[in-house]
Amino acid sequence: MSNQEYVPIFRGNGVLEYVERDAPQIETVDDVLVQIEACGICGTDLNILAVPPAHKAPPGIVIGHEGVGIVKAIGPAVQSVRPGDRVVIANRLTCGQCDYCRRGLDNQCTNYQTIGTTIDGAFAPTLRAPACALWKIDPSVPRDDAALFEPLSCAVGSVKRAPFQPGDNVAIIGAGPMGLLFALLYRTLGAGKIILLDVAPYRLEFAQEMGMDAALNVTQVDAAAEVKRLTGLGADIVVDAVGNQMSQALQLARRGGQVILFGLRPHDNPPVNQYTITRYDLTVHGTFVGLHPFAQTIQLLESRRVQPSVLVTHRLPLAELERGVELMRTQQAMKVLIEM
Ligand SMILES: [Zn+2]
Ligand SMILES: [Zn+2]
Repeated sequence: MSNQEYVPIFRGNGVLEYVERDAPQIETVDDVLVQIEACGICGTDLNILAVPPAHKAPPGIVIGHEGVGIVKAIGPAVQSVRPGDRVVIANRLTCGQCDYCRRGLDNQCTNYQTIGTTIDGAFAPTLRAPACALWKIDPSVPRDDAALFEPLSCAVGSVKRAPFQPGDNVAIIGAGPMGLLFALLYRTLGAGKIILLDVAPYRLEFAQEMGMDAALNVTQVDAAAEVKRLTGLGADIVVDAVGNQMSQALQLARRGGQVILFGLRPHDNPPVNQYTITRYDLTVHGTFVGLHPFAQTIQLLESRRVQPSVLVTHRLPLAELERGVELMRTQQAMKVLIEM
């Protein structure tokens, strides 16, 4: 196998530098080498590449975590995958030893690594990853659906937290890739109305074209009044896929309804309308990347009842990663896949 490959290395301060490197090799007994077929650009990648960065990553790594590929080689202790298997990546590597891991709350691990954020990721022809990070997926699942496994798993993990009844009306703030994955998921689960809210016309049109019930531009309409008009009482479930929209979310929920907080904006600190939560019996769920959502996400993708590839608007070669990032940043693309 050829040992040289050309990969973009993150240099800090928004810079990607393409260098020739030796392809990764098996180093420990539970390593797996994956030939990456495609890797999606995530909001996290945009944040890592922002200046100043909005998400930490050490200079010198290969970023990218929404990858799908074929197992090329396995270390001697690996049992869960074989060469030739198609796999997707569960990118957070938890320690198994901290107090949270030992309580089963491993999404709160205090000693984790993340493929594509703290260690080398999948914007490269070859990924080396420990077997525990890889999930086998049936080759009948189209590549571009499998590539959205990781973001879909985050939505699955989040949705699991808020008891859902068939027919529930759902309002989702943020019609980017994450908001639309929530919408696809709730549609499959049997939601009543699904209403998307955003400020970007491109995203709202996209939601409309996907057949969602309403796509509201919050700069043009009174969102709370409009959601109430569409649903009668307000939404049974509201998702904040943005990360600083809690007060808006509380206004959209019906009395006794639930609010799922999903987006992450670590530097924003919006005020909380505590009275509204108490007076109207609202339940607010903080949800972070999901707790063991992976097996169900694989089953969902293999069932083909959720086909997240409808969000993919652009497919670019690895050499055009920066153009893909720019297309997503300027909202000229919904989801960009990098093809190896
Ligand atoms: Zn992601
Ligand atoms: Zn841990």
